[in-house]
Amino acid sequence: MKIVITGGAGFIGSHLTDRLLSEGHHVCVLDNLVTGNYENIEHQKGHPKFEFIHHNVSNHIHLPGEIDWVIHFASPASPIDYLQLSIETLKVNSLGTHNTLGVARAKNAKYFLASTSEVYGDPLVHPQPETYWGNVNPIGPRGVYDESKRFAEALTMAYHHKHGLDSRIVRIFNCYGPRLRFNDGRVVSNFIGQALTNKPLTIYGDGNQTRSFQYVDDLVDGIRRLMDCDHHEPMNIGNPHEFTVGELAKLVIEMTGSKSEIVYKSLPVDDPKRRLPDIGKAKSLLSWSPKVDLKSGLEKTIAWYKQQLAGTTLNSVG
Ligand code: UDP
Repeated sequence: MKIVITGGAGFIGSHLTDRLLSEGHHVCVLDNLVTGNYENIEHQKGHPKFEFIHHNVSNHIHLPGEIDWVIHFASPASPIDYLQLSIETLKVNSLGTHNTLGVARAKNAKYFLASTSEVYGDPLVHPQPETYWGNVNPIGPRGVYDESKRFAEALTMAYHHKHGLDSRIVRIFNCYGPRLRFNDGRVVSNFIGQALTNKPLTIYGDGNQTRSFQYVDDLVDGIRRLMDCDHHEPMNIGNPHEFTVGELAKLVIEMTGSKSEIVYKSLPVDDPKRRLPDIGKAKSLLSWSPKVDLKSGLEKTIAWYKQQLAGTTLNSVG
């Protein structure tokens, strides 16, 4: 198949690119590298079925030839990124979604949208099933991401209903693994980076807020299964094992053997108190459930960060 992946140089997009190339597909990555990193896909350079196009998909997209899939993963996705790139985030999830849907329609291709557990906002229902409509502050700092992803879902469903587009929507819950940037600002990358450089681990709030962390290989497997499933409504992919942020900090300190202390900082505005996926739908329709527990996933991730640190100056990690 000929597959176009926007955001294919990002953390998740690059792992998906690797997986699809390993299956023998032709993969064309579109990325403007605003939060993505060419190093994530550089190892594929020269692969006869790999192509990279430096492009901002919020602008018109022109791609010659036939395409079987358009997979839209381009968007800043970390709170610090989408706060700084607020308008770019709104644009890539609205204009970028519209442009990529247009390409899929023109090429008679299938379409895959990366959505997020953030569409549930600060949820009042636990765990969160796909049928939950969420609790989102549209004008809060996270609104630029949450609302634009909600719009992207609405637009994708409209193309499905109006134009018969063969579409998929995945709602991705917190994901970690190799290639999550050191300065990405997310909790797993922050804690590992801080622990490995013996800097204090920064817990925002009291550390009792929860997340359920999935290892990137599990997510890519879920995405791959969803591509092959004729299901058009959103599907949660996440790990239902819930941890507090405080527990994660202790685990990272223990696993790295770090001398770091823990410091407490103020909780960002609208930071969700609890997040936990209901994965009943993925289990029954995709026969999917996560395989990698937090400790095993962290081991692989810590090993990767150590490797990265070996090639960089310790002080550049914050
Ligand atoms: N967090 C933290 N310390 C950090 C970074 C994040 O305590 O250095 C908290 C953050 O406030 C949130 C949780 O960890 O409650 C997960 O944050 P992340 O940015 O990874 O993802 P989110 O699920 O909030 O999008």
